[in-house]
Amino acid sequence: MFILKAEVQFDLAHYLSNYEGKCSNIHGHRYRLIAKVKGEDVKKEGQLRGMVEDFGTIKKALKEIEDYFDHKLIVEDDEVGQGLIKGIENSPQSFKILTVPYRPTAEEMSRHIYHMLKDKGLDIHEVELFETPTNSCIYTEADND
Ligand SMILES: [Zn+2]
Repeated sequence: MFILKAEVQFDLAHYLSNYEGKCSNIHGHRYRLIAKVKGEDVKKEGQLRGMVEDFGTIKKALKEIEDYFDHKLIVEDDEVGQGLIKGIENSPQSFKILTVPYRPTAEEMSRHIYHMLKDKGLDIHEVELFETPTNSCIYTEADND
C-alpha cells in the first residue's frame, strides 16, 4: 500500500461556545493540515503511470481547503453564534464569517475536512489537523481500506 502525504496551513479565528476556560473567547490559530491519500498500487498506464495520484491534484484540493478557512472567523450555528453574527453585521467593517453546524474543535474540523477532501474525489486515508505546534487530531474512518 502507498500513502501520499501533503500539507497546507491556514490562519483561522474561533472560540468554543458554552465552554468554561480561555477558549470561550475569540482567538486564533495557525492550523496545519496534513492529508494522506492512499492507494493499493500505482496506475499502470496513461498520464498517472507509476503514481497513486498526481501531487498536483492533491495540492489543488488542499488549496481549496485553505481558501475555505483562511483568515476567517469560524462560528457555530447556535444561539451564541447567531448573537455574535448579529453584532458583527452592525459593524461598519465587514468580516468573513464561516458558519458551521458544529463546535469548531480540532476533532470536528478534521472530520469535516476529511469529508470535504473525500467529496473532491480523493482516496483519503486520514487527515491530521494541528491546532497548535504540539496538539493535533487525526481523523480516519475504520472502513477506509
Ligand atoms: Zn483554539
